[in-house]
Amino acid sequence: MLKLNAHPAGRHFLQIPGPSPVPDRILHAMCHPTIDHRGPEFAELGFKVLNGIKGIFQTKQPVVIYPASGTGAWEAALSNTLSPGDEVLMFETGHFASLWHKMALKLGLKPQVIASPGAEHWRKGVDAQLIETQLRADRDKRIKAVCVVHNETSTGVVSDIAAVRRAIDAAGHPALLLVDTISGLASADFRHDEWGIDVSISGSQKGLMLPPGISFNAVSAKAIEASKSAKLPRSFWAWDEIIEVNKTGYWPYTPNTNLLYGLAEALDLINDEGLQNVLARHQHLAQTCRIAINAWGLDIQCADASAYSPVLTGVITPEHVDADRVRQIIYQRFNMSLGTGLGKLKGRMFRIGHLGDCNELTLMATLTGCEMGLQLAGVKLRDSGVQAAMDYLREHSPSSQA
Ligand SMILES: *Cc1c(COP(=O)(O)O)cnc(C)c1O
Repeated sequence: MLKLNAHPAGRHFLQIPGPSPVPDRILHAMCHPTIDHRGPEFAELGFKVLNGIKGIFQTKQPVVIYPASGTGAWEAALSNTLSPGDEVLMFETGHFASLWHKMALKLGLKPQVIASPGAEHWRKGVDAQLIETQLRADRDKRIKAVCVVHNETSTGVVSDIAAVRRAIDAAGHPALLLVDTISGLASADFRHDEWGIDVSISGSQKGLMLPPGISFNAVSAKAIEASKSAKLPRSFWAWDEIIEVNKTGYWPYTPNTNLLYGLAEALDLINDEGLQNVLARHQHLAQTCRIAINAWGLDIQCADASAYSPVLTGVITPEHVDADRVRQIIYQRFNMSLGTGLGKLKGRMFRIGHLGDCNELTLMATLTGCEMGLQLAGVKLRDSGVQAAMDYLREHSPSSQA
């Protein structure tokens, strides 16, 4: 058993789907002394991150940065745009969609949750057709927002957000489109403007490779308009004051200065590699991971090949095998953390994160740890997933991906 005060040799393998490993360049950037958040140098940093983050969301509209975890940005999206008793349409894709639903209830909204047939197994993404049907049936336009999770981190399933936009338009419905891309941003293709999203929600500790602690709302003109008449109480989260002060490069309250140093560095890292290359690398690693799981003869949590996540992959363990025991063996024996099954998936599956600061050999080491851990747990594997992944990687590079 690793003790907290022990220092095992080598790096801990943090292969959970967020927080993801923080690269040295970002750690160093955050070591700079904290500066006066109202002083003259600060605005330069403020402008750099406020403008730079827009490129990652693929938007020209304002992006609000909060000193808060992703959950705060969820609340900000709801409380800035909606009023008590408003109906919102949500979709059951997994644990994070359920948590957002619970928050909507606590805030006094009236969420309707759509579940497609088989959705209770959490193996599929959003069915845009069902959203369209529901919106068409809402003749009095009582539904004020459609809330969906882009990359469902509990399952490794990506939803087609452009299709949700088309569904809303096809129904001729004025509802806002709110999208949680907390684990999708900077790892999975995401286009705030092109997909007509009204509020995009994200966080720092997933694809952006930062520690937890800052989160985002990218907002459309329509969302800002809605915020002017929205009645849910809000103060800390209120966009109007923040966006106004951000125009000068500052914040109305103390922002997370050192995390903003880290964000500035993360933007440089992503832009140096090129956002499209970052996304292609994630697809490449995810594909390699699936090849290993298939070789093992195990099932992938995502049951729809068109919805595989480039961020993480869920591995279902055989019926009699507790997935958390496999994780525990891997942690104790090989100093690697894997994601636990969340909610109803507890013990039934584990999640391999391959996001952020991850390359082919990081993934190979991860797969090796998984393969040995599964064997130590007594799982009979069909073939070596590690060998299958090596065979694949020898012949394919990220750029050879479509
Ligand atoms: C991580 C995550 C959250 C929660 O974010 P916190 O930073 O833990 O508050 C919400 N939704 C998704 C999809 C996530 O991956």
